[in-house]
Amino acid sequence: MRYSEMFLPTGREVPSDAELASHQLMIRSGMIRKLTSGVYTYLPLGYRVIRKVEQIVREEMNRAGAQELFMPMVQPAELWRESGRWVRYGKELLRFRDRHDRECCLGPTHEEVITDLIRNEIKTYRQLPRNLYQIQTKFRDEIRPRFGVMRCREFGMKDAYSFDADEAGAEMSYRKMFDAYGRIFRRCGLTFRAVEADSGSIGGSFSHEFMVMADSGEDAVIFCSSCDYAANLEKAEIARPEEVPNARTLKPLETVHTPDVRTIEQVCAFLSVRPKEVVKTLIFNADGRPVAILIRGDHEVNEIKVRNYLGCNELELAMDDMILEVTGSPRGFAGPVGIRAQVIADYSLLEGENFVVGANREDYHLKNANPDRDYAVSAYADLRVVLENDPCPRCGAPIRTARGIEVGHVFKLGDKYSRAMRAVFLDAAGSEKTMIMGCYGIGIGRTVAAAIEQSHDDQGIVWPMTLAPYQVIVTPVNIKEAPLAAAAEALYRELTDGGVETLLDDRDERAGVKFKDADLIGIPLRITLGPKKLSEGCVELRIRRTGEVRTLPIERTVEAVREHIRSETEALI
Ligand code: ATP
Ligand code: MG
Repeated sequence: MRYSEMFLPTGREVPSDAELASHQLMIRSGMIRKLTSGVYTYLPLGYRVIRKVEQIVREEMNRAGAQELFMPMVQPAELWRESGRWVRYGKELLRFRDRHDRECCLGPTHEEVITDLIRNEIKTYRQLPRNLYQIQTKFRDEIRPRFGVMRCREFGMKDAYSFDADEAGAEMSYRKMFDAYGRIFRRCGLTFRAVEADSGSIGGSFSHEFMVMADSGEDAVIFCSSCDYAANLEKAEIARPEEVPNARTLKPLETVHTPDVRTIEQVCAFLSVRPKEVVKTLIFNADGRPVAILIRGDHEVNEIKVRNYLGCNELELAMDDMILEVTGSPRGFAGPVGIRAQVIADYSLLEGENFVVGANREDYHLKNANPDRDYAVSAYADLRVVLENDPCPRCGAPIRTARGIEVGHVFKLGDKYSRAMRAVFLDAAGSEKTMIMGCYGIGIGRTVAAAIEQSHDDQGIVWPMTLAPYQVIVTPVNIKEAPLAAAAEALYRELTDGGVETLLDDRDERAGVKFKDADLIGIPLRITLGPKKLSEGCVELRIRRTGEVRTLPIERTVEAVREHIRSETEALI
């Protein structure tokens, strides 16, 4: 491609809402333009990168035995009513009516459509297993679209769905996708971790998120400093502590007047205690029932763990009327002693004694509160958010925390959709069974943005060879000098004929301007043709990532470039 003919509007300007480097760079390098909130156009340069990711995804999905199809974006409401999601999905689902007043939505995901297809076509175990995927546009009316294409409303996703005859088969399908995802993100040149993610009511570790490690990531992840345990913070577990023989010296319960003392900081300052000596009592409304959760003052409750532990659908912090009902006092003084609700305590309360708690009485706290003696705990459970240095639930070594960008998600669905939508088949014995499903997503645009987030410098993007929109840029320092222009043209043709994706910077611009643009758009290799080197029959090859510059005889250039591309690509497999 000739730069002079390319629609490639690069620039220095960035909109004020572009906080992330990737967002700024995608705009500056002429990859994307915003149409409206969370909706973007990919310009030719950006679209080339999208196609690179899609190609890697296709190759690895096909290698793993999945087959590509293409489903509609507009979906009828009836299917979503069958699965129960027409009501449950919330406002991210964009709903509308057609001219016949039929309710429809724009697909945010395709479980309903694929399950409908499969239940109509697959009748016996002989037709299973199946794994079908598409690369298709999704629409999610995100409440806060931001970071450019990282969290937008209209975006390309690869979504795959597996259907198996039994659990063992479903686990194998899951494993295949897990492995394929590892290959995909390695080939994209990303540093990532597969972390255990919350799988809601399904349980077990049958959901993994693929996280690109980046300080700017929206997700918090934890990983073990010693073994390979890694999880999304929401899911990260804490093991039940060893039971210690009860060598407690229980002090007498004491009521103290604590006027205007509500927060943990205020309690600690007023009573001269540390946060870990205070117990917070959080009252939740779990499907209409009050539940008191006890958490140490230096910890935070993890509502997802509470929800999963209780197995409830709706969980929210109780309103004032429920608090008054169970504690007999206004908000801010709840404690376990005498409370009229089931009490569940975090594991951390199995250790320590003589805690400060709320007194269920306005402006009072209790000192030296102890379970069994002063209040009943119906169960101890893992209910809190994991912190740096907590012991790993698998091996006990200290936990580390980091930030990540979720680029992919593999999920064992079980029979959630196949049961609701009756996707059944006849097994070898002729009896009817429900199919076991899995679903597997990769955000194409988000993967591109994550790659930039992970690989850029002050000058611009630094593409891994496998994602680069062009592998090489040929830059004659002055296009008006006929010998330079002719040599550049000849080299460009030779590279292109040799299968190298090449951009020829044939613009009548100063060399400095050309170098800046080449760095901004992140082309991995730059070949510079200047009068002095050329008179010696040589060109300069510069490697964008390292800044290394080599002088090469012009006739050896194509070979050297191809060799470099080959070795950099193979290093990622
Ligand atoms: P998130 O928690 O970030 O909203 P999600 O759990 O809703 O993601 P999935 O439903 O698992 O995401 O979708 C599969 C993949 O699609 C994600 O891993 C991500 O790469 C991509 N994706 C999801 N939402 C968006 C979005 N709003 N913009 C761009 N990509 C997205
Ligand atoms: Mg989401």
